[in-house]
Amino acid sequence: MGLVCYSARTFFKHQRSFLFPAVIYHWESYQTDLLNKVKDLKDVVSAGDGRYDSMGHSAKYGAYTLLCTTIMKIVHFELVQANETGGSYQTELEGVKPCFGFLQRLGVKIGVFISDCHRGIAKWIRENCPGTTHFFDIWHVAWSVTKKLLAASTEKGCEIIQDWMKGIRRHLYWSATSTKPGFGSLTLAKWNSFLRHVANKHTDHPDPLYKVCNHANLPSRKWIKIGTAAYDKLKSLLTGKALLNDIKQLSPDAQTSCLEGFRDTLNHWHPKMIGFSWLGSFCRQHILASLHFNENLHRDTQVTRDGKKYFQITYPKFKLGEEVVRGVATPPTYGKLTVEYKKLLFNLSKQEMKEVFDTFCPDSRTRHCPI
Ligand SMILES: [Zn+2]
Repeated sequence: MGLVCYSARTFFKHQRSFLFPAVIYHWESYQTDLLNKVKDLKDVVSAGDGRYDSMGHSAKYGAYTLLCTTIMKIVHFELVQANETGGSYQTELEGVKPCFGFLQRLGVKIGVFISDCHRGIAKWIRENCPGTTHFFDIWHVAWSVTKKLLAASTEKGCEIIQDWMKGIRRHLYWSATSTKPGFGSLTLAKWNSFLRHVANKHTDHPDPLYKVCNHANLPSRKWIKIGTAAYDKLKSLLTGKALLNDIKQLSPDAQTSCLEGFRDTLNHWHPKMIGFSWLGSFCRQHILASLHFNENLHRDTQVTRDGKKYFQITYPKFKLGEEVVRGVATPPTYGKLTVEYKKLLFNLSKQEMKEVFDTFCPDSRTRHCPI
């Protein structure tokens, strides 16, 4: 028993004194190279997303991650102590502010920023970042509408809504992605046409921006008659003021869907069930996770001996049972990371490690540091 305790203590000590400083040292130089490349680019598009290290109200650390979709790399993250900011909603905004500040100090301009529908972030960007156009990610809006439709379809007389849920989600994506940036009113006109389309009315829409449906002749459908309970319910859900405002601001292009994949990577490097110290969170969530994600984002599809690609069919929850066919990616690699850390562990001097450690965690000796 005594031996186990001693080994664990030694492991944590070495992790804090050697491994974490090496990880941070590498991240700093890697990030500098990455941002130097981004600085020279025009019209940089970034997507941001918040994540909390444990479920619900007990979140200890909130992290806000920036994915530069122009180069498809995680370029920065900020860790915020959630209990200092008063709730996860506020934590997300408190994570965005230093992310923007950090990039601005380095001369990186974010031309387009995409996030979930966070009104606090939208207001802050409007008031403080005049050179940035802010869009909402379609996935988040679609998921929120879907949840409401699912609940409505269980109500008596509204069961037919179930048959239209996939169509509504597709219409939302189409309304946003078929419209050029800056024409939010047209996105909205297209979206509103759905309430006539669903009642088998495809011409003479009231909005002059979008008078006629874009589709050819349709086969017979289970149309929803105007005046029925199902129609009224659908109308109240699809024309809520908040939703219409969100739809006007939907992103027509790059999506934060990659960041959803990043959350999976984070769960691998930083399981939510374990309480990490600040330094542990910083290194695992996000440095190692970001480096791993950047190294493995575009993996090749696995092939058979005779060169045929492997595919898999999945039925993700957010697609409502609709199948998604994807190539099976080759296994992730850890090669570059391993090589870099070996190099650093054996080449960084003790003094250099101490300096990194003291900079990033000056009071860590007084903190409980489980990992
Ligand atoms: Zn139509």
